[in-house]
Amino acid sequence: MKTINKIYINGQFVTPHGVEIIDLINPTNEEKIAEVQLADVDDTRLAIAAAKAAFPAMRLSTREQRMAWLQQLHDALKARETELIDTMVEEYGCPRSFAESTVQRSYLGFLQMRDILADYAFETRVGGANVVMEPHGVVGLITPWNANYGFIAGKLSTVIASGSTAVIKPSEMSAQQTALITECLHAAGLPDGVINIVTGRGDVVGAEITRHPDIAKISFTGSTVVGKTIARGAVDTLKRVTLELGGKSANVLLDDADLERAIPLALQVMSWNSGQACIAGTRLLVAESQLEAVKTQLCKHISQLVPGENIGTSVTAQQFQRVQDYIRKGIEEGAELLCGGEGRAEGFERGYYVKPTVFVNVRNDMTIAQQEIFGPVLSVITYKDDAEAVAIANDTIYGLQAYVSGKDAARTAAVADQLIAGRVFVNGVYDEPNAPFGGFKQSGLGREFGTYGLEGYLEPKAIMGH
Ligand code: NAD
Repeated sequence: MKTINKIYINGQFVTPHGVEIIDLINPTNEEKIAEVQLADVDDTRLAIAAAKAAFPAMRLSTREQRMAWLQQLHDALKARETELIDTMVEEYGCPRSFAESTVQRSYLGFLQMRDILADYAFETRVGGANVVMEPHGVVGLITPWNANYGFIAGKLSTVIASGSTAVIKPSEMSAQQTALITECLHAAGLPDGVINIVTGRGDVVGAEITRHPDIAKISFTGSTVVGKTIARGAVDTLKRVTLELGGKSANVLLDDADLERAIPLALQVMSWNSGQACIAGTRLLVAESQLEAVKTQLCKHISQLVPGENIGTSVTAQQFQRVQDYIRKGIEEGAELLCGGEGRAEGFERGYYVKPTVFVNVRNDMTIAQQEIFGPVLSVITYKDDAEAVAIANDTIYGLQAYVSGKDAARTAAVADQLIAGRVFVNGVYDEPNAPFGGFKQSGLGREFGTYGLEGYLEPKAIMGH
């Protein structure tokens, strides 16, 4: 059993002042992996002070220097790729292939941001004014557990490109992954104080970052409830905020969709990371005329989701229980179970393995169709025509991602145009790392990745006269 009792402040690994210790549990066998000593408010203040002291030099750093740092960060993560993957598999109980793609995306993100930085115009002329894009200062990065490396690397790459400094507050549930990625970030050799990492409770470390006057901006990824708490707290000092929040994404199958292709895709997008993905396509919208055919295909293909092989566990016992409660609620509210259901997946005596579950006869106002379950649970909802499909898809507080399948390109384009979502995938899943990512409505505020992401970390300043 390991002990994780270091945080990272001003280029040093230091023992937190915080006294709270939590256990990390391996979700596949429920055994204890590590004890973690959490940071407290004093630790957070020290990290903020270090980031503040490092900012003046960071602000003056050249584009070439920042590009070199992004390359160094990439190299430092890549050098420990296998350990990063092993640690993620142990801590999350996810399939190795999922950990591999997460780790690769994480280090490649630094190169993608380096390339954006290479071409970005920090200075432009607007009439007689010189407009300069300035970094904010100290940026607080508050991240969730569900793809810890990805969020740390993605947000940090933008902070470095913009010329700000960072105080990172990762989820305490990913402390083992954070300990390892911190070693990589340290090895990259950036100036002391540019990167600081304080693992602790959200309502302790996260709350201090939210309220502290020396934090200029917060970039948060996590639940909509906590995102709202942060936005409220940030108002007092008018911090800039980027919020990447929850989702309840619709997957619209038009009545000419090729089901042999669309159904395996639907099962894939609802079960990403065991359904623990903000962009999971958890509402499958099906034309009434196709319902029976869709049910047949779902029953045929669901066996491709094999817990322990290509689908992992819920992250904690609490999350497993939450998913079970939603499944029970679905039954109580009158939805019909097509496959899966309550209880641990067959073949396991231990571990937080949820049965891949599909409900039919779901109404869009049911709890399972409105709330984010964060488990492999799909709700099938029928519609009469394309207009009703769009109306149901948009009848949610969220607007993060949406999916459409159909043969007629004009029809799929018309539906994609009407869906209220930050990203729409038509007839497949795609990877365009520099496309803007973020949500409409209560799925968030602002965008990340690529040039849109970089501009979210910059502030225009107009200089006139000489
Ligand atoms: P969470 O909101 O519970 O926690 C996220 C982070 O916020 C953690 O580091 C947590 O410690 C911290 N936090 C908690 N309370 C806080 C407070 N009062 N002040 C400041 N910080 C606080 O989310 P989670 O359970 O870790 O992650 C799952 C959620 O994240 C889901 O809702 C999912 O949809 C969302 N998510 C969104 C995206 C996106 O890009 N839109 C991506 C991944 C996950």
